Amino acid sequence: MKIGETMEKIVVVGGGLAGSEAAAILLRAGYEVTMIEQKPVHFSGAHKLPGLAELVCSNSLRSDRAANAVGLLKEELEKLGSLLMRAARATAVPAGRALAVDRHAFSAMVTETLLKQPNFHLERREVTNLPEGPEPVIIATGPLTSEPLLKAIAKVTGEEALSFYDALAPIVDNSSIDMSKCFLLSRYDEGADYLNFPMNKEEFLHFYEVLTTAEVVPLAHGDGQFFEGCLPIEEIARRSMHALRFGPLKPVGLEAGPDGRRPYAVLQLRREDKAGQSWNIVGFQTRLKQPEQKRVLAAVPGLENAKILRYGAIHQNAFVAAPLVLDNTMGLIKAPWIHIAGQLSGVEGYVESMAHGLLTALLVIIAQRGLNVPPPPPTTALGALFSHVTGAVRLSKKIYEPHNVHWGLFPPLEEACNKAQRGEKRYERGATDFAAWQKLLSEKLNLSVLE
Ligand SMILES: Cc1cc2nc3c(=O)[nH]c(=O)nc-3n(C[C@H](O)[C@H](O)[C@H](O)COP(=O)(O)OP(=O)(O)OC[C@H]3O[C@@H](n4cnc5c(N)ncnc54)[C@H](O)[C@@H]3O)c2cc1C
Repeated sequence: MKIGETMEKIVVVGGGLAGSEAAAILLRAGYEVTMIEQKPVHFSGAHKLPGLAELVCSNSLRSDRAANAVGLLKEELEKLGSLLMRAARATAVPAGRALAVDRHAFSAMVTETLLKQPNFHLERREVTNLPEGPEPVIIATGPLTSEPLLKAIAKVTGEEALSFYDALAPIVDNSSIDMSKCFLLSRYDEGADYLNFPMNKEEFLHFYEVLTTAEVVPLAHGDGQFFEGCLPIEEIARRSMHALRFGPLKPVGLEAGPDGRRPYAVLQLRREDKAGQSWNIVGFQTRLKQPEQKRVLAAVPGLENAKILRYGAIHQNAFVAAPLVLDNTMGLIKAPWIHIAGQLSGVEGYVESMAHGLLTALLVIIAQRGLNVPPPPPTTALGALFSHVTGAVRLSKKIYEPHNVHWGLFPPLEEACNKAQRGEKRYERGATDFAAWQKLLSEKLNLSVLE
């Protein structure tokens, strides 16, 4: 910034994944950022840590392979110097082919890095009204945005927030696990990062019986839609026994266990921290009543006395009808200085929320500074998220559901190729187009590194 120039200012409401990533990139572009975060004054039902960038449920940022859509998205974030991806690498815990983090260390690193920046100010309070313009504001208050703010958004847009249900998985204490009944192994024999609890047919049928007869907590509004990509385990079981055995309890790739044979079913636990003091149960998100969670887990050999450190729970996730209410900078059409970032926009997942925070901040900077840079191309993972939220990939803008990033959000490949090659080809196309877009961006925008 030249002497005499005033600093561009922006407010970011919500210091979760999207808000923290947005704040980081704005600081890197030279903005003065005021973040308003309601914790620890007010916690949602799922947030527990006082720090920023809290992963509320599992500690996994999913597959770490570039040749799938979420892998490509992570790669693009890293190429753009994402603070949260840097923190994820620094606080990673062993998790086979996935990137998983120590949730506490991850949040601490992001919080400390942001708080160290001289142009970053953190206010701890709940925002209940939409700030007046004309200075830009990014609302990144997530799927559990507090009720008054949701109402304020609905008042401006004239559209009630949409919602679906999402659940948390329990975390268990390492010292309460019977280690003689489980084994350490990553699927397909790629390391030994997961704790596996094998079940024979009889044990699985018993577990299934206990699970499907256990009592659940009623949904807040009677009925509702679950997110298909992350169904509660009892809901999967209710659909069919096979859905469970071919889904979260699938034994495939775990033949290298103690007796060298494929078990009938396997429950997997993923480390919460490097030392393995606590474990997150993979695919076990649930709305079972708490005593029932204990009873169901006790039906798994090895977890008879499992001490649950955090119980599973169901939450109603809100999102706006983005294609109807947002413009191409994620600004509210009826109040364009207010931009919506993260899961509240209808992206779903940790990585997608970070990515959407970064993307929204970039779109705001580009628009404010009048830089001649288009949004990322639809063949890139960031571009696919952009297309999803703006409605460009939908038949009807009125039918809008949250999505993880997946190849279905990308344009079809121009050339025909077999299924096995498709991921690779899409990856190559995305990486090439991203490089060209990033070159254009870097010619117009200088992003420093946050120490
Ligand atoms: C129960 C549950 C389980 C989930 N599990 C997973 C999972 O396992 N894996 C996965 O990939 N994704 C999961 N998600 C989905 C999603 O990826 C996360 O919710 C993600 O954290 C969303 O990022 P975000 O930045 O949009 O919102 P958040 O990370 O939730 O951040 C929003 C922030 O805004 C603050 N805030 C809210 N309202 C206000 C207000 N009025 N004023 C000020 N501050 C406010 C909150 O305290 C919070 O810090 C889950 C979501 C839920 C609700």
